[in-house]
Amino acid sequence: MNNKIGKDHPSSWNPNADKLTIHGWIRYHYKKKYICTVCGKIGKTHWSSNTHEYTRDINEYQERCCSCHMKYDFKMGFRSRNITQ
Ligand SMILES: [Zn+2]
Repeated sequence: MNNKIGKDHPSSWNPNADKLTIHGWIRYHYKKKYICTVCGKIGKTHWSSNTHEYTRDINEYQERCCSCHMKYDFKMGFRSRNITQ
């Protein structure tokens, strides 16, 4: 989409933007450490939203490994067991 949008464009910010857009923004502005912040596992991590509100606040996100991400989402009720990823 529009790769030129930066952090100084609040007018272009749509709070209802879908999470793919937000994830693109996070990936663009922040480098992953590839360490799960929950269990410390090193490897593939996801940016996992703490609240699933998908704001542009990096504090809203943590790197979680696949397993911790799923567990967290289930625990918080973000994810239904009927949905496979
Ligand atoms: Zn983990």
